[in-house]
Amino acid sequence: MRNRKTATISVRTGIESDSQHNAVVPPIYLSTNYSFPEFGDVPEYDYARSGNPTRTQLENALAQLESGAGAVVTNCGMAALNLLLSAKLGPDDLIVAPHDCYGGTYRLFDSRAKKGDFNTLFIDQSDSIALKDALALKPKLILLETPSNPLLRVVDIAEICQQAKQVGVLVAVDNTFLSPVLQQPLTLGADFVIHSTTKYINGHSDVVGGVIIAKDEADATDLAWWGNCIGATGTAFDSYLTLRGIRTLSARMRVHEENAIRILECLKKQSLVGTIYHPSLPEHPGHEIAKRQQSGFGAMLSFELNGSLEQLKVFISALQLFSLAESLGGVESLIAHPGSMTHRAMSDEAQAQAGLNPTLLRLSVGIEDSRDLIDDIEQAFAKAVEVV
Ligand SMILES: *Cc1c(COP(=O)(O)O)cnc(C)c1O
Repeated sequence: MRNRKTATISVRTGIESDSQHNAVVPPIYLSTNYSFPEFGDVPEYDYARSGNPTRTQLENALAQLESGAGAVVTNCGMAALNLLLSAKLGPDDLIVAPHDCYGGTYRLFDSRAKKGDFNTLFIDQSDSIALKDALALKPKLILLETPSNPLLRVVDIAEICQQAKQVGVLVAVDNTFLSPVLQQPLTLGADFVIHSTTKYINGHSDVVGGVIIAKDEADATDLAWWGNCIGATGTAFDSYLTLRGIRTLSARMRVHEENAIRILECLKKQSLVGTIYHPSLPEHPGHEIAKRQQSGFGAMLSFELNGSLEQLKVFISALQLFSLAESLGGVESLIAHPGSMTHRAMSDEAQAQAGLNPTLLRLSVGIEDSRDLIDDIEQAFAKAVEVV
């Protein structure tokens, strides 16, 4: 099974595994508990927090898709990150994270560090000197997030893993923005991969979930133990829906990306569009790395509106096929204004420091017909241009 391609793994995992009725699609097991066959004979599943057959199927699928030894499906992406912290870090340990990581990740690492659970250092991981200095502090773990949100900054996973290995530092990668279809960090040298499965992996904006996948068997066993211990594991119903979402993951990612590339062409022609951020663009600083380590450029993109906030408001409200919403990776197209939405907790100064222009807009390009999406964008720009 290890050598199968992602689309095949996604579609086939658990198919024809039902030994009772030969159901083609695996049934869902909602039971919280399982009887012991005999006194003292502990079954594979006894209680659903520790293990559930539906969750196991999703874990197997995700471990295979990321080429890992095992996975723990959690109740959200934050729970997967927190599980890693619980399993790996003690009070004297240091974790290094990107300064522009997901806001919830920043809050988790910062708050737990302030409580004394461990130490956290946020750095610009594309700055090779800052990275060397951080690794010289002998951290236990370094977390990468590439491409980053919302400016799609890219770092070299293989290069950082090689440097980390030399000093015995574990590497975890948040792979939420690309999914295993477009990037597989364990094959580039990472020890752990994390996803918010809420995003592309489930892909239908109806499940909040997460996963952590380990390269080594021993780490996978350890994470499963901690997942049960701290109560981080995902529910059967969420696992069932997410497994259903995964069936179409490869096909969805293909259309997401095709649509994003067409929308980029449309954006380039608009007078109101300033800098565009997407790793497919040759002028994007991470373009060469992305070409090397990704098997596609993904469907998240950002751009600066070359105009007033009034024009930005008119543009957003004129759009009919892009919902103004947070989150990403669903089949439906979304637009977000990081300044007033995902990154509103950051002060104006902090936003400026992070390179967030007040007129920056982020698109999560869906899988609608790209011609409709482009018509929609063009008519919304036509209205915004008229504003004086
Ligand atoms: C959404 C997200 C998370 C958090 O996941 P939840 O499922 O919302 O807990 C972590 N990392 C990235 C990159 C995300 O986009």
